[in-house]
Amino acid sequence: MIQLEQLSKFYGSDHDAICALNNVDLTVPKGSITGVIGVSGAGKSTLIRCVNMLERPSSGRVLVDGQDLTQLDAPALRKARHDIGMIFQHFNLLDSRTVYQNIAFPLELMGFDKNAMKERITPLLELTGLSDKKDRYPSALSGGQKQRVAIARALASRPKVLLCDEATSALDPQTTSSILELLREINQELGLTILLITHEMEVVKSICDSVALISGGELVETSKVGPFFTAP
Ligand code: ADP
Ligand code: ADP
Repeated sequence: MIQLEQLSKFYGSDHDAICALNNVDLTVPKGSITGVIGVSGAGKSTLIRCVNMLERPSSGRVLVDGQDLTQLDAPALRKARHDIGMIFQHFNLLDSRTVYQNIAFPLELMGFDKNAMKERITPLLELTGLSDKKDRYPSALSGGQKQRVAIARALASRPKVLLCDEATSALDPQTTSSILELLREINQELGLTILLITHEMEVVKSICDSVALISGGELVETSKVGPFFTAP
């Protein structure tokens, strides 16, 4: 579902350029939950941001569902991004909009009318357990609830892929478990392929099928997360 081929990213130019990713090859199979783990500064965030072109790769290819995103012009990329949802460590909600309006935001950009929006949003509120919070503003929500809103918003365009950038790093352990449980449910019931980055091995152990270790911008190891690690 996601293929990174010889992906490199340099920040800055020429003599003082920082190499954040160095010829990374990674395949994320359809329907899997794949984790990328590594210490701070390893290049995880750069990697996941290259998957939806929030960051332009310096070289290499990024294929999502067979389409090379590095070759697309702006309108084609906008369309391709409907297939790619993303959630963040600090949720990135719009504080001036309610839960419902936050989830509606991508649909507004896609030109949905009010009824079509409601048809999409109602089941997402149910899935994320937010039906009774739909008219609240983000400031009145807990961290876990905010991340649920962000997940519902990411799912609104019916993506094939969900990118999670340290999605549980700002949450306490109990809330982390409930968010990971929700992500697993989304993977199993909606069939979404999930690519997540984290600095916590516990996150990988609890939901990932495969894990890739990144260090100094290089992919140093990829392996299956064995049954030993996935046991409760
Ligand atoms: P991680 O997510 O694993 O902490 P990052 O991808 O954020 O790693 O960073 C990888 C390297 O790239 C680090 O050396 C970091 O300082 C550098 N870097 C990240 N973003 C930028 C940027 N916008 N400008 C310059 N250097 C950056
Ligand atoms: P908090 O964000 O305060 O930690 P929770 O994340 O535990 O709250 O739960 C928020 C709402 O989501 C509650 O109404 C709860 O019943 C519901 N909920 C909890 N887990 C799930 C789940 N896996 N799927 C759907 N809804 C859930």
